[in-house]
Amino acid sequence: MSLEEKFSWEFLKNVADALDSYRIRVLIDAKKDVLEVGIYDELQYETILYKMLDEEILKYSLFNFLKNKSKANCQDLEIFSKEFSIELNKTLSLLELLKNEQLVDVKELYDKIEGSEDNPETLIFKDFSIEATNGDISKIKSIYEPVKVVFESKNCSGCGLCAAICPVNCLHIYNGFGKIDEDKCIRCGLCYFVCPRTYLPVRVLNMTQEKTSEIKEYQNIGHFIEAYSARTKVKEISEICQDGGISSTCLHYLFDRNKIDLALGAKMSNTLWRPEPVLLKNKEDILSTAGTKYVNNPNLQLLNLNELKDKKIAVVGVPCQMQALLKSKIYDIGFPSLNNNEYRIGIFCMESFSYESLLKICEKLNVDINDAKKMDINKGKFFVYTKKGEELNIPIKEISHLGREECEMCYDLTSESADISIGSIGSPSGWNTVLIRTEKGKKLYDELVSSNLIESKPIEDVKPGLPLLQRIAGSKKTNSKKHINSKLEENKRVPNY
Ligand code: SF4
Ligand code: SF4
Ligand code: SF4
Repeated sequence: MSLEEKFSWEFLKNVADALDSYRIRVLIDAKKDVLEVGIYDELQYETILYKMLDEEILKYSLFNFLKNKSKANCQDLEIFSKEFSIELNKTLSLLELLKNEQLVDVKELYDKIEGSEDNPETLIFKDFSIEATNGDISKIKSIYEPVKVVFESKNCSGCGLCAAICPVNCLHIYNGFGKIDEDKCIRCGLCYFVCPRTYLPVRVLNMTQEKTSEIKEYQNIGHFIEAYSARTKVKEISEICQDGGISSTCLHYLFDRNKIDLALGAKMSNTLWRPEPVLLKNKEDILSTAGTKYVNNPNLQLLNLNELKDKKIAVVGVPCQMQALLKSKIYDIGFPSLNNNEYRIGIFCMESFSYESLLKICEKLNVDINDAKKMDINKGKFFVYTKKGEELNIPIKEISHLGREECEMCYDLTSESADISIGSIGSPSGWNTVLIRTEKGKKLYDELVSSNLIESKPIEDVKPGLPLLQRIAGSKKTNSKKHINSKLEENKRVPNY
């Protein structure tokens, strides 16, 4: 039954008005435009609208609940969760929305554990102190504006999800920069809603990964169940992979056992070292994606392709892409291609460059980019290996000004929001460090081992192991905080983590 048959269109508009939901009103008004563009069919459009209405109703129920108390805390959030039969994590995600819409003021209270010379002081989460505003909701301007504000403030990670979600296909990302066709934009704000650089409840993301309702702080590499050092035994992959070939082996296995129909990844375009998003259809396609790419690539943009509908997919991507996918799972508004995403395979990422910056790095190393066979970041240096067998390197410090400004605020090295995270830091050359974060990731890894597709060692058995990874991930977090604070001092927009 269509929405119009179930409820009159006027009724739906009135509900949206009563909720003061600008996003929903706009989407209702733009029904004709959305269906004409054809990214979503009528049933999908209605599913999205219903889900959004449910979510808004729940959010305002929480607001009203909090408004009836002078001050609320964790216990009150638990009471609300029970009353509405939802997980505490869901309530926390709604609280985050209310906070971002400036409808509540949330303070976090901590216990301080004194440190010693060897152990720094630590803060342990104790409780929230929550106050609902007394302001008139209808006077509060919607925060869900188009992500142009994210592009212009140099906050965009370039993940590509906004372009996939846009119901009128008026947004595109290329070479790390986004552009909106303002004549077509219906200002629904959906791009803002899914973007990992508008607001991102990092603690809720980690709690969702851990499947816990215990509110706590997470360490430098996020939640993980097990950690290994591993390398592929698949000959075609080992011949071309950069390190241990584990991400390619995951896809190889998933295609082979029909656990996925399609995968999203990045391959080199016709311009060498300028990657482009690619839709992988079988295990032979995987070989085109081998090797680390240092130029930003909006893989998630492909999620709006029609051929993805009703297909099981895996996404291989960098941490900001894993964050975008998990955020959209937490705030599920029924977008079809996001629901089909079966596996999040995350890769480690220290920073990314524009193609033009990569050219400048090659210039500094006195090498033609077309002669480069492999690039790598290791031991504080950027390496270029040439087709003639030369090894050239430059200290990262000397090229850090060439990294994307947008990446300076990135807090995540190890893809904390993936099912399984893979990178080279912590393992010997030719091996990958693998962090297993979810039950799904664990099952996949165990099956790779039992199918004899990979060689696996506990990470404790290899050097330098997790201590190095923890240290580098920690310094990325510290640098991210520094950049965010200095932007705040200049009154510039920053992501709300
Ligand atoms: S650009 Fe953003 S606000 Fe504009 S129509 Fe697309 S999703 Fe909606
Ligand atoms: S971070 Fe991702 S979702 Fe946000 S504006 Fe950039 S490309 Fe779009
Ligand atoms: S450093 Fe962060 S924001 Fe930049 S590409 Fe990597 S994961 Fe994305």
